[in-house]
Amino acid sequence: MKFFNTLSGKKEIFRSIRPKKVYLYTCGPTVYDYAHIGNFRAYIFEDLLKRALVFMGYKVKHVMNITDVDDKTIKKANSEGSSLREVTDKYIKAFFEDIDTLNISRADHYPRATEHIKEMADMVKVLVQKGYGYQKNGSYYFDISKFKGYGKLAKIKKNELRTGERIESDEYEKKNAHDFALWKKKKPDEPYWESDIGPGRPGWHIECSVMSTKYLGQPFDIHCGGVDNIFPHHENEIAQSESFAGKKFVNYWLHCHHLTVNGSKMSKSEGNYYTLRDLIKKGTDPMVIRYLLISTHYRRMLNFSFETLAQSEASLDRIRDFLRELKDRSVEQGINPLVEKIVDQTMTDFSESLSDDLNISKAMKAVFDFIRNINKLLSKNQIYTEDSKRIVSAFKKWDEVLGVLPESEDTELEASIKEKIDRRNRARKEKNYALADKIRDELCEQGIILEDTKDGVRWKKK
Ligand SMILES: [Zn+2]
Repeated sequence: MKFFNTLSGKKEIFRSIRPKKVYLYTCGPTVYDYAHIGNFRAYIFEDLLKRALVFMGYKVKHVMNITDVDDKTIKKANSEGSSLREVTDKYIKAFFEDIDTLNISRADHYPRATEHIKEMADMVKVLVQKGYGYQKNGSYYFDISKFKGYGKLAKIKKNELRTGERIESDEYEKKNAHDFALWKKKKPDEPYWESDIGPGRPGWHIECSVMSTKYLGQPFDIHCGGVDNIFPHHENEIAQSESFAGKKFVNYWLHCHHLTVNGSKMSKSEGNYYTLRDLIKKGTDPMVIRYLLISTHYRRMLNFSFETLAQSEASLDRIRDFLRELKDRSVEQGINPLVEKIVDQTMTDFSESLSDDLNISKAMKAVFDFIRNINKLLSKNQIYTEDSKRIVSAFKKWDEVLGVLPESEDTELEASIKEKIDRRNRARKEKNYALADKIRDELCEQGIILEDTKDGVRWKKK
């Protein structure tokens, strides 16, 4: 497989540290509000990456942190008059509900920052002992002039670094590459922890340095996030972890691009955002949202609009309609030798595309070409039940990567619709047209359209 590594600035052949095993860390949610779908773009890209690695035969050990103490969570708790724990517990619960709704596979560990405070203080202590960190008025800072590689991920030139100046807040612009906070001293309105380096709380960046290497060791294979994490967050993680351990932190850095709305980044601070819950309330199928977020290459900007959402719905419906027709229209007995050939070719195209830096557009093109080719055979009644089984199992394999066709949803729905169609057929045979029409209307309200064809009744989603 090849991935574009932000660190080297080019596509590289991926080589895992352990044979056929990948250790993956992805920056998780800061739990102070519902995540918006711009946040989910990153989580879905990471899910695609993980599923593609598994598809290619790797075992993946995945860790995603939960930032449950930082500037934002504290601010939110104070503004609500709640405890930090009350706020973060609420949004952690919402986060897990949302990732399940989007069929995002779970990580192996979700470490919470507040459960690793001692390890964070210990890392700061070592950084100070080694001369990379210093104390000022009870807080601790990282001295960026001491770490030779500072700026290598975000491509900042040495003369652009504002050495000797300090910055307190967790997030800041690239032009402000200052000494950053490792540990923030106890303040009146903030939660704090007692530690060997004095009372206070960790900075955001040290959280990820500690939690990633605790569960994955150092170096580990892949670290992901959104492009807005490159600076300062990931740059600072590298500075801390490499200074601490005296060795490389991460081999491959993968970053996904923003989701934009009318050309500007979707974010809470811009106020131009939709949460997953907003969209579902408007009646959007979560799998359509997943499809939209997964189907644009992760390094390209994705502009969100209800138009692009509708296009995704149409694409997903084409797949669903195809699979349904396949069941309805396959004929008994026989095997079409062409089918095996088409399946094999598509399987090759699909995996080669994914191996090339997750080229999802090419992979999806292979799938839709496949549908077109099989449809041609279907229309000539040249697909047999055995072929149909082969086709369905190929789709299952592709959907292990795409995750847009969860089984339970379809089979339950199908069973209930089939039952209604049978009742309607019986009613029509008995010339009870009033009942037949009533059932048709009921299905229509459920979003199901019936078509009476010469081969019998077919149904599809509105
Ligand atoms: Zn992080």
